[in-house]
This record gives sequence, structure tokens and C-alpha cells, in this order.
Amino acid sequence: MAAAIRSIVGERFFLEDPASLLAYACDGQTLICRPPRAVVLPATTEEVAAVVRLLYDAGIPYLPRGAGTGLSGGAVPLNGEVVLSLARMKRILHVDPVNRLAVVQPGVVNLRLSQAVASEGLYFAPDPSSQYACTVGGNVGENAGGAHCLKYGVTTNHVLALRVVLPDGEVVDLGGPPGTPGPDLVGLWTGSEGTLGIVTELTVRLLPLPEGRRTALAYFDTVDAASRTVADIMAAGIVPAALEMMDAVAIEGVERGKKPAGHPPDVEALLLIEVDGVEAGLDAEMERIVAVCRKNGVRSVKVAESEAERRLWWDNRKTAFAAMGAISPNYLVQDGVIPLSTLPDVLRRIRAIGEKYGLRIANVFHAGDGNLHPLILYDGRVPGEAERAEAAGLEALRVCVEVGGSITGEHGVGIEKREAMCFMFDPPELEAMRAVRAAFDPKGLLNAAKLIPTPGRCGEVKAAAWEG
Ligand SMILES: Cc1cc2nc3c(=O)[nH]c(=O)nc-3n(C[C@H](O)[C@H](O)[C@H](O)COP(=O)(O)OP(=O)(O)OC[C@H]3O[C@@H](n4cnc5c(N)ncnc54)[C@H](O)[C@@H]3O)c2cc1C
Repeated sequence: MAAAIRSIVGERFFLEDPASLLAYACDGQTLICRPPRAVVLPATTEEVAAVVRLLYDAGIPYLPRGAGTGLSGGAVPLNGEVVLSLARMKRILHVDPVNRLAVVQPGVVNLRLSQAVASEGLYFAPDPSSQYACTVGGNVGENAGGAHCLKYGVTTNHVLALRVVLPDGEVVDLGGPPGTPGPDLVGLWTGSEGTLGIVTELTVRLLPLPEGRRTALAYFDTVDAASRTVADIMAAGIVPAALEMMDAVAIEGVERGKKPAGHPPDVEALLLIEVDGVEAGLDAEMERIVAVCRKNGVRSVKVAESEAERRLWWDNRKTAFAAMGAISPNYLVQDGVIPLSTLPDVLRRIRAIGEKYGLRIANVFHAGDGNLHPLILYDGRVPGEAERAEAAGLEALRVCVEVGGSITGEHGVGIEKREAMCFMFDPPELEAMRAVRAAFDPKGLLNAAKLIPTPGRCGEVKAAAWEG
């Protein structure tokens, strides 16, 4: 088998030595890591299809991997799968400025795409904080979001067509120009976490770069006041391009991280608020936002005076996860969604969960669309702390579901939240999901350990979460 794969992709692009395999054992979540059986780095759709056909015929499990920045374990070879890394497939094949679209390979790094089309006055809207590293194929895998997805929508709103290699090696094209009739298979694929097929080419929408922007930074003495401000901005009918929040623990982290912004050490919360679009009217819109901040007792609010100042605030925000390394040896990122009206209550409950488990929790998140990211800080060297962090994370997700939200906004389910699917779905609904997967992957070879819990587990999982 190894010889056959080598003959398809070339000697250098089939890895099986233990040191190389170790690099593919984890993704952005590091609690559960397993080295793969082998790693294959194909360069074309044809190579992916040929390798997949060999694996399928031999009954060998496998999974696709982009940059491995996923935060729910989607690219982790839990059962020693063969990893197909799409990292070499990083060409931008075609840019069409008139129809505002680009045809790209899946290994193109998200930010590179926007940089490459900037000279045409265009950009790719989904902007995960990991955009300097993550790939557009991985963005489709997770239906990734980002700070500016509040106004512009997440990945699924920006993908028009996909070329995919099905689990048996057949190559098919899905989707097409806007209005393509038939069931929305591109929508089904986007967010399927590499469980239905491997994306080898994407046609994505590009948006015109906004004419202008205004960015404000607001400091609050209480988390409640900041939460109320978020709710009031949205209730006023304003649609900011981005509305991000950090609490005191997160601020401590970013100020000790690589991109400090000089935030005061004693504020309880900050909001980073951006509006964009046609120049005329931006100042008035920002004035309305500032007025809402003042009504809620903001300590201070400042509009960025230069692009350098705006960049500093955004770099500070976008490196927030990494900055947690400055205040904690380990952290677990959670990703839940809640109705905005419940924000103050949910943040209070998350604080109480931290106290219950004796762990600090930093909150840094896309507040405008109610997409929370509690970062549960722990020390993996202390026996039992990792388990406590996991339990605290699960409890936070349970709270999100209880208030009418979801167990994931953008990071996906993967391994990490597989059991938490039981919080949201009944066994017949999960059975329907298994049936969809089996229609594409009857042998259950493609990333099979992810996304959908093992049948029959839900009773036990729910009992443990609600009674335990
Ligand atoms: C510091 C940091 C900040 C982050 N911020 C955000 C954020 O703001 N918003 C957000 O949404 N996410 C965020 N993430 C999570 C992560 O970056 C995204 O989920 C991203 O989309 C993953 O892309 P990737 O290329 O790393 O994919 P991987 O991690 O390699 O894979 C992710 C999933 O997609 C599947 N997959 C990968 N490539 C393909 C393909 N070609 N065909 C089919 N399936 C495929 C994999 O099997 C896996 O299930 C962050 C991560 C980090 C580390």
C-alpha cells in the first residue's frame, strides 16, 4: 500500500517515520492527540482521488487535514487514520473581479486569499482569528466564522461551488452560480467536518473592500454594563461589522501576551466595536454607538485615530487565544452560542462554573452574534485539572443549550463536543445524521470518529451532565 501511494504522490510526500507523524497528532485542541498511521500530501484532485480509491478498496480509515488549527479535534486521527494533508494544494487558480469570485485550492491560507485579491479592491469575508494560518478547505470543514461575520455571514454564505472527492474516490462538482437549482449540497458540505468527502477545489464569493471604517474601544467597570451595551447596540438596529468583548481575565492575558494594547489593568470588560461601509454616515453611526456606551456607564470610549491604532487593537484581539499562554500553562477553548438577551445571565453562570471547579475562565468572544468563547485555564501537570477543565467546559455548553443556544458557533463538534450533541439532538435526529453520512460513506472510513455520538450513549451523557 505504501509503495502504491508513493507512486502516486512521490517519495517525499508519503510520511511514515514517527517524528513526522507526531506533527500530525494534534490540532488546535491539545487534550486528545494520536499520531496517524501515515501522512499523504497530494498535489492535485487526481492524486487525492487515486489515494482515496486505494484506501477505500483496502478498507483503511483516513481523514483530511488543512492547517490543523481546528479547535475541536476534527483533524486528529483518533483511530490512527491515514491523514491526507491538503497543505500542498495552495494555488489560487482564477480570480474573476467582475463576478466577484475566486476559484482556489483547499490549502490556500485564508488571509493569503484576501491579500491576493486586494489589488482588485476585493476580499474574502470570513476572518477567523487564525486567518494567518488556517486554510479555506478547513474553513469549509468547520463552517468557520470570525469577528466580521456578524455583518457579513460565516463561510457557508461565501461558498458557491465545491469539487469534492467522495469517500470511494469518485470526483463530483457541487453547487454553481447563485440560484443553482436542487438541494443545497454545498450547504450540506460546509460544516460537515471532513466526514462526507474531501474538498479539492472551491469557488468562493469575494466582497468589495469597504470604503471606510470606524473602530472604537470601550472600557467598562462591570461585565454586566458591557453585556447590556452589546444588547442595546443590536436592539437599536445598528449592525456593526464587528462587536467583540473581553473580560478582565482575558485582558490580563492579552496585556501579558505578544501584542499588548495598553488596556487599563483594572477594567472588568472591554468592547471592540467596528462599523464599515460607505464613508458618508460612518461617523454618525459611530456616534450612536458611543451614545449607547455612555448610557450604560462606560468608563471611557475612544475611536481609533489612525490605521496603526486600529491595527494594534485588532492584533491584540486576534492573538488573544495565544496570549493565554502568558497566564496559564494550558487552556481549553469552548465555543457556544446564546441568544443575546441572555448574555449578562450566562456570563454570570460561567463565572460561577469557574468558581465551582476552582479554575479561572477568560472570556473573549464575538459578542454581537452571541458566540461565546470561555477559555478555561488549567495546568495539565496537576493531576485532575485537565478533567476538571473538560467538565467545566461541558457545563458551560449545557448552560448555552438551556438558554436556547447551541454547543458550537464556529469551532465545530469534532471529538471534543461529540457527546454534547446529545444536549441538542434526540436519538432519531442523530440517526438521521448518521443516515446522511452513510449515504456518502457506507463503509464508514472517512473521519468516522467525529461529529456524531455513538448510538445509545445519549441517555448516559445527559444524565451525567444534568445530574452529575
Ligand atoms: C488561535 C486560533 C483562533 C481561532 N479563531 C477562530 C475564529 O475566530 N473563528 C473560527 O471559526 N475558528 C477559529 N479557529 C479555529 C480554526 O482555525 C478554524 O476552524 C479553521 O477553519 C480550521 O482550518 P484548518 O485549515 O486549520 O483546518 P483543520 O484544523 O486542518 O481541519 C478542520 C476540519 O476540516 C476538515 N477539513 C480540512 N480540510 C478539508 C478539506 N479540504 N475537505 C474536507 N474537509 C476538510 C478536517 O477533517 C477537520 O474536520 C481558531 C483557531 C485558533 C488556533
